Order: sequence, then C-alpha cells, then structure tokens
Amino acid sequence: MYEQDTIAAIATPVGEGAVAIVRVSGPDAERIATSVFVRTEGKNGKLASHQLYHGRIRDPKSNKFLDEVLLTVMRKPRSYTCEDVVEVHCHGGAFIVRRVLEIMLSQGARHAEPGEFTQRAFLNGRVDLAQAEAVLDLIRARTEKGVELAIDHASGKLSQWVHDLREELLDILVQVEAAIDFPEEEIELLQQSELIGKIDSLRSKIDEIIATYDWGRLLRDGARVCICGRPNVGKSSLLNALLGEQRVIVTPFPGTTRDVIEDMINLNGLSVVLWDTAGIRLTEDQVERFGVELSLKHVEKADAVVVVLDGSAEMTDDDLRCLQSTENKKRLIVINKSDLPQTLNIVKLGQSIPTANLIQISAKRGIGLDNFRKSLRELLLSQEVEMPIVLTNLRHKSALVTASQALEAAVHSLKSNCAQEFVALNLQEAKERLEEIIGKITSDNILEQVFSRFCIGK
Ligand code: GDP
Repeated sequence: MYEQDTIAAIATPVGEGAVAIVRVSGPDAERIATSVFVRTEGKNGKLASHQLYHGRIRDPKSNKFLDEVLLTVMRKPRSYTCEDVVEVHCHGGAFIVRRVLEIMLSQGARHAEPGEFTQRAFLNGRVDLAQAEAVLDLIRARTEKGVELAIDHASGKLSQWVHDLREELLDILVQVEAAIDFPEEEIELLQQSELIGKIDSLRSKIDEIIATYDWGRLLRDGARVCICGRPNVGKSSLLNALLGEQRVIVTPFPGTTRDVIEDMINLNGLSVVLWDTAGIRLTEDQVERFGVELSLKHVEKADAVVVVLDGSAEMTDDDLRCLQSTENKKRLIVINKSDLPQTLNIVKLGQSIPTANLIQISAKRGIGLDNFRKSLRELLLSQEVEMPIVLTNLRHKSALVTASQALEAAVHSLKSNCAQEFVALNLQEAKERLEEIIGKITSDNILEQVFSRFCIGK
C-alpha cells in the first residue's frame, strides 16, 4: 500500500450548480471530515462505510453551521484511490464549496495536485497507467464513440492486449537468453528462422495497432475542418445548413465573413469543429486581406479542408488559387448551388485533379448534405477498420513505435548472426517500452507527463 498524507479538492466544476462535491482521501480523511460534520441522526458511533449521512458542516472558525450536506465515507480499499475517502456533497455555490474545502484544509488536509486522486489509484495498484489515462479521456470525450473508446481503455482492454504481447515477448526472450547461458547448445538454423518468424509476427501485431492511432485520435479529440473558397460560393450557407440554424449571416455581397466562425457538428460519432473562413482571394482591402491570411492559417492547422466552388459560375483565378493552396491537404471539393443551371465544367475539373473527391450540393436547398457528411467522415477516417484495440494516446503510440523498431533491430541482429546478447538487448528494449504503457516501469517524468494533464480533484 502506498502510504501518503491526506489530500482534499473540489471534485466538481467551478461555477454555480445544485450540488458540489469536496473529496478527501488519505489516512486522516475520516478524522478530518467528521471533526466538522454534525450528523442529523445517531450522533455517536462510527459511520458505516459506503452510506450517505445527512448533516451539517460546522465552521470551526466561527463555530456556526455553514451548510446542510450529505457525507459518505468509503473505507479503503473499496474506494477510487484505495485509501479512505470521504466525499461531502454540499450546495453548489462558489463560496460554500470553497469554504468547505478550506475547512478540510484547516483540519490537516493538503490541497491535491492535478490528477493526484487518480495517481494514488495507480500507485495503490487499483488501475494501471493506461487505465488511469483513460479516465481523463472519458471525462473529455465529446461523442459516443469517444466515450466507447475511453471505456474500453479504462476497463483494461488495451492493458490486456499489452500484457498478452509482453508474455509472448517474454517467451522469445527466454529462448534467446537460454542460448546465451548455454552457448554450447547454439541456436539451430531452423530454430533461428522460427524465432525470426515469431518476432516478425509480434511486430506486425504492434504495427497494425499503431496504424489505428490517426483515426483513434480523431475519434477521441475530434477533427478540425476548414471550409474555404472564394467569397460568395456558399461557405457560410453550408455551415448554416449543416448546423440547421442561421449561425452565420449570409448575404449576396462578397467578403461578408472576415473573421473565422467556429462551430461543431457530430458526424456519426465523430465530432468535427468546422471553421468557416473569410474566403481566399486576392484583395486590396486591408481588413479582408487579414481575413484571407487567417483563412490560410486555419487551412494549415486543419485535419482536412472543404473547398467550396460555385457550380453556377465559371471557375475563376481565385478558385484556382484556393485549390492550389490546399492541394497538400486531405480535401473534399464541394460544388455548390446545384439547384441553379450549372456552368462549371465538372468533367474538366475532375480531369485536372484526378484524385479529387468531388461532390455536388445545394447548401441553400439542403440537397446532397447527407452525402457530404458521409464523404467527409470517410475522408477523415480513411482507413477505419474494426480493430480490437484503437490507440488514442500519443504516449502509447510512441512507446509502441519504439518497441516495433527494437523488434526490427532484433530480427536484423539475428539475420546478420550478431551475438545473442544484442538480440536479447533489443528484445529487452521492446519489453520495457510495452511495460511503460501500462506503468509496470515508470519514471517521475512519465508520471508527471500523465497526471499533469488532469484537473485538480480528479
Ligand atoms: P460565402 O461568402 O462563401 O460564405 O457565401 P454565402 O454563404 O454568404 O452565400 C453567398 C450567396 O450565395 C448568398 O446570397 C446565398 O444565399 C447564395 N447561396 C449559397 N448557397 C446557395 C445554393 O446552394 N443555391 C443558391 N441558389 N444560392 C446559394
């Protein structure tokens, strides 16, 4: 058991709410909380664990009652941190909750650092590091799919996969180490090729999962998509149509949108932040030029761009400029105003950009929007396939990439008949990188990197 001092923090968001929770964890949690808690019924005797008690918090400074609360004690090890935990449910006014926390601190608790409750759950062995990180993903998930992935990780699916992989790796390592310990029984050629086969198969399993990171990240964090095109092609109309509301003012006058308007849509579980930009064109107008520069910056930052063209007009130099400045991005080319007689030559456009995803819509009439949503989702999650594990965390990805490289080096060492010690070193490296993911080996650096991303109180 990881013995520590007692920490306290507000566990609910700042601001007004019906209820707020102050959480206290550590060996003194019960003493600290009950020293200022006056029960409504059964004034004496020990509180039962995992039960809610009604009562009041007494302010020791003024000796007056501060608030009517519900209090629960969760004795170790059946608590979030595996330590004694007390939660005080008070009224959710900014002053009250802060005062309840101050009272806990005045009775001997220390204010918790970001993520310290979860860190204790990890240090006490209740969850491993990958599971602890998933708690944060769960809190931050913005879509059903994001929640699904976080729950998978929090329940230990990724950890189990890493654990199984590590076991396979250990088997191989044992064989190699045996060859080092008993050099007279040199690894036979056949045995050697079998070893290479096993390491390669392990590597492809890892590489397969590494490949899920790009869309795993998008599913977790959401994608950023920039709508661009010359003024008046219907960018704002498209944003409004997707949101189903008049978010942006639409006028027939070019150059109305100068700032970047941001809003979010949900594409079947994938949350997408859409940026409606000023439009990209050559202009003498100072303000509009600033808007164009801002548009280009957003193109740069976006995971994908939607270039809008006006199907009822000929292509202009500004359209070409916009197509050129987005050619290196994942992009969808939308030919808008399909309700009007079409002048733009789609066949010619398709020939000049053979790889282009072209779709026709009418933002004003709501035609082709379902196809637009589907195409955009496919564009963003291009290689999405059903996989047992989906990576969402850069730390896990980096560790797996290094593990895969170490396995590659092991195969290389075997093929070039290097000393078995080299092979063992490579395999050892891969094993350690896997262990880093689940926190079997950690450093202060890794813990700091993981838990500093949490909020205080979690
Ligand atoms: P933006 O400058 O690219 O954002 O373009 P807007 O969304 O402000 O639209 C410019 C003009 O085109 C407005 O008068 C819109 O009503 C019109 N417009 C936009 N989409 C369509 C469409 O699908 N069909 C038709 N007929 N007009 C459209």
